Amino acid sequence: MLDLHKQDLNNKRVIVRVDLNVPVDQMDNVTDITRIEACQATIELVLQLGGSCVLLSHLGRPRGKDKRFSLKKIVTTVSTVLNKPILFFEDCIGDSAEQATLELEPGQIILMENLRFYEEETAGDIEFAKKLARLGDLYVNDAFGTSHREHASTATIAKFFKNKKFAGNLLQKELEAISQIANHGEKPVLAILGGAKVSSKLSILYNLVKKVDKIIIGGGMAYTFLKAKGGAVGKSLLEEHLVAEAKEILLIAKKLGKEIILPTDILASKDFDNNQDIKTFKSSEIDDEWMGLDIGVESAEKFKNEIFTSKTIFWNGPVGVFEKELFSNGTRSLCTSLKQAKERGINVIVGGGDSIAALKKLGNKEWVSYISTGGGALLESLEGKTLPGVKALANDY
Ligand code: AMP
Repeated sequence: MLDLHKQDLNNKRVIVRVDLNVPVDQMDNVTDITRIEACQATIELVLQLGGSCVLLSHLGRPRGKDKRFSLKKIVTTVSTVLNKPILFFEDCIGDSAEQATLELEPGQIILMENLRFYEEETAGDIEFAKKLARLGDLYVNDAFGTSHREHASTATIAKFFKNKKFAGNLLQKELEAISQIANHGEKPVLAILGGAKVSSKLSILYNLVKKVDKIIIGGGMAYTFLKAKGGAVGKSLLEEHLVAEAKEILLIAKKLGKEIILPTDILASKDFDNNQDIKTFKSSEIDDEWMGLDIGVESAEKFKNEIFTSKTIFWNGPVGVFEKELFSNGTRSLCTSLKQAKERGINVIVGGGDSIAALKKLGNKEWVSYISTGGGALLESLEGKTLPGVKALANDY
């Protein structure tokens, strides 16, 4: 992949596909600026190298030109976060749009209107991509969170920029983090997977069991594995139809000499909504009426030991129903152990919406080595797939 840092961008218009699909409330306030901050480094680099920026993004899922999804409403926030004036153009294709980009001075930034006002965007339409390509002299993809989609602005457009297409700073950092987890991270590499369902992470498990040294499975996911090992899981979340696949994953791990670590004790309740009775069980002996909703103290201690003896850690998904105070201790102690691990020099990478939500709820998140911005894109990468938006940056695309 070509390196943007080495380019002379003097007087060049650089199309930067960013992910400004930020949450906006009913009063049109942006409620989370993480994605805006995430594209700052690339934009600043383009400007430093003498270029101007043509920002392309989508916002939400509009059907046609629906002004409720106009990117215009976020211009002020983007400008405040980037601490730079941002121009806006009310379309993303056409002669006037092209003219607006041709009038840019070096150092200027223009945000074009929502790409998804055209259904050709998500269809990956070549004619639409050609029109987008007229907006710039070079193309940079920095929209990691959308790179698992084969859309006009994330993939097709790259066909028009042979030798003039680059990965932005954020995309590079995300790919590097994925590579540390799945390829060249310092060993032992530990993956901690939690969350509700095995089904959503099955492909990742099949891939990661080959790539990492050990996997901790917590949360609702754990019960299908506990059942696969012959345990009694009571009323806990169970994907019965996946017990056979869970057995297969355990077998693959055994053959490869990899460890799959499950909770040894479980905090359970009789009712998901009414938690008057709670009780700790051995994880393989949960009584019929009971439902496991968090890991127990013994498991938290065991997980901590595994964490401290690893060198690279990836965490995705809470190990209990952390939204409920009574069942948040497992995830809280996991966060504490990870923080202590980071202080001991262990590389801690976190990804996935719920883990980030848990980090925020249970403490701060500034200590983490790297937090991935991509949901689906991260998960597909960890399944071992090359994302369409990344593939498109190769010159033979
Ligand atoms: P996911 O979106 O798959 O990462 O799942 C996150 C959700 O899993 C959170 O809302 C947690 O409350 C839920 N979760 C974690 N542990 C359990 C459990 N033992 N039983 C049911 N849900 C759980």
